[in-house]
Amino acid sequence: MIGYKITRRFVSSILLVVCISLTGLGFFLLNFFREHTMQKEQDNLILNARIIETTLADKLWRNDSNIIDVTNVIARDTGLRITVLDKTGRVIVDTDKPIENLDNHLLRQEIQQALSSDIGYGTAIRYSDTLHENFMYTAIPVRRNGELIGIIRTATSISVAEAAYAKIKFGILIALLLAIPIAFTLALWLASRQLKPLIHIIRTAKNISNGNLSCRIHLHTGDEFEFLGHALNKLTSTLAKKIREAQTDAQKVSMILEQMDNALMLIDTAGNIHSANRQACRLFPILQDNQPHHCLHVLGNAEFAETIRTLNQSTSMILTYRDYTFEVFLSAFQNNDDAKILAVFHDISVMHELNRRQAEFTGNAAHELATPLTSISGFAELLREDDFSSPVDSRHYADVIFQQAQRMNRLINDLLQLTKLENKTYRNQLPSKIIDCGSILQKAVNALRQKSAEKNQVVTISELADNAKIKAAPDLLEQILRNLIDNAIKYTPEHGTITVACFVRENQVICQIQDTGIGIPQESLSRIFDRFYRVDKARDRKSGGNGIGLALVKFLVELFDGSIEVTSTLGKGSNFKIFFPLIKSTTPT
Ligand code: ADP
Repeated sequence: MIGYKITRRFVSSILLVVCISLTGLGFFLLNFFREHTMQKEQDNLILNARIIETTLADKLWRNDSNIIDVTNVIARDTGLRITVLDKTGRVIVDTDKPIENLDNHLLRQEIQQALSSDIGYGTAIRYSDTLHENFMYTAIPVRRNGELIGIIRTATSISVAEAAYAKIKFGILIALLLAIPIAFTLALWLASRQLKPLIHIIRTAKNISNGNLSCRIHLHTGDEFEFLGHALNKLTSTLAKKIREAQTDAQKVSMILEQMDNALMLIDTAGNIHSANRQACRLFPILQDNQPHHCLHVLGNAEFAETIRTLNQSTSMILTYRDYTFEVFLSAFQNNDDAKILAVFHDISVMHELNRRQAEFTGNAAHELATPLTSISGFAELLREDDFSSPVDSRHYADVIFQQAQRMNRLINDLLQLTKLENKTYRNQLPSKIIDCGSILQKAVNALRQKSAEKNQVVTISELADNAKIKAAPDLLEQILRNLIDNAIKYTPEHGTITVACFVRENQVICQIQDTGIGIPQESLSRIFDRFYRVDKARDRKSGGNGIGLALVKFLVELFDGSIEVTSTLGKGSNFKIFFPLIKSTTPT
């Protein structure tokens, strides 16, 4: 209890009040007593002086020598020191000292006062060097017919009164010393009674401020403390509710920030990363626990770092980082006197890539169309100016125009088919049914036999399973296989061999088209399925290709839940394999 400052202040206040009041009272009583005693002594001396005056006045008037004896008798009877002076201040009688030793008393304080004041007497307290104690003197003038004939002075020692005064002073001091521990105990008891509710409030408030918001004040004193307790309880409940709400909101925000697809960072103008969400830590070399130690240099982009350093409002910029392209939205804001920047990284890599591919596709398409169109317009020009003198030449011009027109037609048809297939509704309407992959392969080989015979190539069917059932559109499957066999014929020199097969392996139907042709370089293998991609543009164009065939093949294969693989050795040949899910005969259509 005493450990509390407020208790110590309360106790010391009470002690101070007690000490001051007791001391004040002591001084007052002491003073009052002194005044009273001195006044009594003084009254007594004056009274005695007046009585002595009535006895001695006549003798003084007559210069009676008997005056000395009478004065001594009175002094003996009263115990006072009596001094009689003539009107000049010369001592006629003194009951304590021989008059020869005494000088003129006219200038003594009590004598001057008695002669000059209206009250008719004078008083003084002085220390007696002879008797070594304080004396009180009173003097009254003696007059006859209004004329001053002498002065009578009475004096007494005030040492008894002073001793009594000192005793009282001591008594008061003792009382004061005794009063202090009593007052202290009393103050402590009072403090424990009066401050108990306050201490309870303080303890609970301390607990609350330490974060224990479930603490409550339980007081039933019926006074202001109880009111204060209720107010604090209400305040704590409201605070706890607000904190819970704020925590829930913060959790929601943090969940959103963590789960969002965009990377997010909080950066200061010096370039230090203060926090980053999960996505940011995944994309950039930032450790989630170590964020304040990371610096923007991890992004390795000087322009971005410079923008952050000078930013004072909101802006956006494009940032490339490794294979990613981001549109970064930057907003500057003030956080506890610190300028901070919120950076939201919107990944536009896919969009960027799409735009790039679209631009590339348009460029390629335009180029592919422009090439045959140039030939057509060139040979048509020749034909226009031809005099048809050489029918062979004229026929050649017409043939080239026809071939190039056919090529354009093929390209446009392929592109149109790809565009149509990209439409989901069109895809869903395709007449997909369970078909025998082997017989379709046989059909595709038969259709291209003539073309291979023209190049003296041998087309062999090494295996043709009769249970290779798959779910697909028959026309489109035939288109896939014809495309691959056609490529094999195109890219295999004369007298080469093309081997096809259709077999079943572990729930899969595999169609294989293998040739002994020119092969595909390793670095091109991953790109041959891209639209317009050709290994050797000039050569492959001459062979009549447009670079769309394999793109269409891959698209169609995946449309029927299949996949395509290619292996190739340059100068030795290529091997294309298509995998489709096998449809078991028991499976209903
Ligand atoms: P194209 O119509 O030009 O043949 P494709 O999309 O069918 O276009 O093929 C893309 C490219 O892949 C071809 O230009 C060719 O360079 C290469 N290619 C395709 N099939 C073969 C193959 N069997 N042997 C060697 N190269 C091939």
